Amino acid sequence: MNEANDFVGARRAVPLLNELYQEVILDHNKRPRNFLRLPNANATAHGRNPLCGDDYFLDLVLGAGGRIEKVGFEGSGCAISKASCSMMTTLVEGKTVAEAEELKEHFIHLLTDKKLPTKSLEAVGRLKIFEGVRQFPVRVKCATLIWRALEEALKDQNQRKTEISTEEETL
Ligand code: ZN
Repeated sequence: MNEANDFVGARRAVPLLNELYQEVILDHNKRPRNFLRLPNANATAHGRNPLCGDDYFLDLVLGAGGRIEKVGFEGSGCAISKASCSMMTTLVEGKTVAEAEELKEHFIHLLTDKKLPTKSLEAVGRLKIFEGVRQFPVRVKCATLIWRALEEALKDQNQRKTEISTEEETL
């Protein structure tokens, strides 16, 4: 991945956002938060966006009571995808699975609904800086990739839960 081109690409993709918001995305790209694999993860997913070359592993530590205790990601991709990963990890850590899924739904709506969903715009909080990405369909996939991976990781966890409860029944 060519860093310089990636940087220019990020600038080009967010021309409608004000400078402060651009800075937030570029800062998360440069210093991604929770950029590590979690050896004790009990839910994981691998998200790839071949169109752009974004490729990330997502690890979650899910605690009792359905709370997301720790989130980590690792991989490479464009500035928008990496900033989205980084911000996602800071926002869902400490949330319940239900709360994280709700945030994910709002974020996907914000980027993919034909008409700007004002309810979701309010619900996503700091993630509203990605609103301008709506106008660039190719970039929408970059921004939503890690949220799709989160969806998969939580699905994975739900399946394990089902298996566990089946085992419990046979005891
Ligand atoms: Zn990308």
